[in-house]
Amino acid sequence: MNARPVVGVLALQGAFAAHADRLASLGSAVVEVRRPDHLAGIDGIVLPGGESTAMSNLLKSSGLGDDLASRLRDGLPVFGTCAGMILLAEEILDGREDQVSFGVLPIAVRRNGYGRQIDSFECDLALAGRSESFHAVFIRAPKIERIDPEVEVLATHDDVPVLVRRGTAMASSFHPELTGDPGIHQMFLDVVEHNVSNTHVR
Ligand code: GLN
Repeated sequence: MNARPVVGVLALQGAFAAHADRLASLGSAVVEVRRPDHLAGIDGIVLPGGESTAMSNLLKSSGLGDDLASRLRDGLPVFGTCAGMILLAEEILDGREDQVSFGVLPIAVRRNGYGRQIDSFECDLALAGRSESFHAVFIRAPKIERIDPEVEVLATHDDVPVLVRRGTAMASSFHPELTGDPGIHQMFLDVVEHNVSNTHVR
């Protein structure tokens, strides 16, 4: 059997601790990524929710942004949730001019796109590939306003994609780490493990 995957969680700001706990409970080794050297040896990375503009500032000041961009270009599996989805989007609407975008997913997202009245809400989503619904928590969530047809839609809310995947990159508008259901993290770990077994012999 393969060694267990090593998954990084970007830990500059925001909701990283719950992701780390969930990934550890599913059997992966977890590295909190704060500096460029923390990227060595990880098989995948989660970009958590929080505040994408603050994360952008910290990615620049820590020197992590460029190294992470290059690992992502090389195909490091990534799962961006909420603010993390914003960091992965090719186009950010209502963003700050200078905010970091890794451009990994050909989607356009609007920051806080679900509007003021419903800044936060919860709902049950139908997930592609499983029969039980997933209880999702949206907090000042980004809304996908454009999506390239090559991006797979794994869940929608009111016909808008909220969980998407292209190749080894996944993103959700909501916070899957805040509810007890490990299904979506397991989906990401399956992507990571599949990528590890395809790219190198361990
Ligand atoms: N609105 C936040 C942003 O623009 C994202 C909110 C979240 O991650 N819960 O970064």
